[in-house]
Amino acid sequence: MRIGIVGGGINGLCCAWVLAQAGHEVDLYERNTLASQTSRASSKLLHGGLRYLEQYEFRLVREALKERDAWLQRVPELTSPLRLVLPIYQGSQRQRWLVGAGLFLYDHLAGKSILPPAQWLTVETLLQRDPQLKAKGLLGGYAFSDGQMDDHRLALWVAEQARLAGANLHEHSDVSAIDTQGHVHIADSRYSHDRVINVGGPWAVTLLEQSGIPPPYRLDTVRGSHLVLERECPQAYLLEVPDERRIFFVLPWQGKTLVGTTEVRQQAHEPIECSVAERDYLLAAYNHYTTAPLSAVNINSTFAGIRPLLYSAADPRKATREYALDRQGQLINVFGGKWTTSLALAHKVQQQLL
Ligand SMILES: Cc1cc2nc3c(=O)[nH]c(=O)nc-3n(C[C@H](O)[C@H](O)[C@H](O)COP(=O)(O)OP(=O)(O)OC[C@H]3O[C@@H](n4cnc5c(N)ncnc54)[C@H](O)[C@@H]3O)c2cc1C
Repeated sequence: MRIGIVGGGINGLCCAWVLAQAGHEVDLYERNTLASQTSRASSKLLHGGLRYLEQYEFRLVREALKERDAWLQRVPELTSPLRLVLPIYQGSQRQRWLVGAGLFLYDHLAGKSILPPAQWLTVETLLQRDPQLKAKGLLGGYAFSDGQMDDHRLALWVAEQARLAGANLHEHSDVSAIDTQGHVHIADSRYSHDRVINVGGPWAVTLLEQSGIPPPYRLDTVRGSHLVLERECPQAYLLEVPDERRIFFVLPWQGKTLVGTTEVRQQAHEPIECSVAERDYLLAAYNHYTTAPLSAVNINSTFAGIRPLLYSAADPRKATREYALDRQGQLINVFGGKWTTSLALAHKVQQQLL
């Protein structure tokens, strides 16, 4: 089959790889450069998404945990296992028994994982590992496993696999319209395919709207920002934002500390950048847990991306992380989708082709 793919983020690239490997003639159209948008602005985690258990997203978490292990095994040079700590303090929103139960379930959903299970660590062990961790009220913490990746380089690695399998990847190709008969319009040209896959991430609905096709789903486009701090990170953490139920990450990243993220609704066409309010919010959250607080001058850089979430709740923090596929004639639309689950999503798209 001749397949046109709109979008060169990780979901489009995985579709190109899987479909070219299956023997299809694949052309992928990306208006910028490959993996230059959401797929390189992630928290760099290959993870099941521990917090999605609170939203009962068991199917998604199980799939993501399986995919996490698969990425770690498939591309060890661009990924690595990561041991995160979730400290429990007096007055934490989540008590020890709840976190313990959640991690027991997380490990159970991971099945026969290549990574070690969760483990309780004492205050002494935690402070030995990270002497700058705030000790006041600390009761101990759970260490648990996930994976870390270089999202941009790993996406480009996928692009290379797609090319080796025969896919044509066209950068700087802005698709102005698609239709349900397999056509893709770029500038004054029209390209014909047996199937077109719309994997435009946060812009998938915009493309449908500008093509006059009623979108079957709404997307909630929610910005997430990160800070890269000029400090080495001795330990990866999943932490509660003080006085909130929200969680945020503190992660080692290229010899520095990555802190993220936020959840701010915005339109897909608005500039995607970390605001001053988000910067202050993340810095305050980080400083709450350290005995050596940092200020704005210690920020090396910031970056932001928008999550293409299926619209499911008035509060974006409660929005589902599930993805959905929709078929209209020769057109297949992809809505949502995590980085970690991109290859599983591509296999589902392959099933939809027939
Ligand atoms: C702050 C943040 C943190 C995250 N952290 C994680 C994490 O740690 N782990 C994880 O698994 N997931 C994470 N995610 C989710 C994950 O990054 C995204 O779900 C994933 O990258 C989406 O990939 P995509 O290919 O669908 O979208 P994108 O990467 O945005 O790709 C879509 C592409 O389509 C192109 N495009 C759109 N319209 C057109 C058009 N008309 N013509 C041509 N090209 C077009 C765009 O230019 C873009 O390159 C995070 C997301 C955010 C925002």
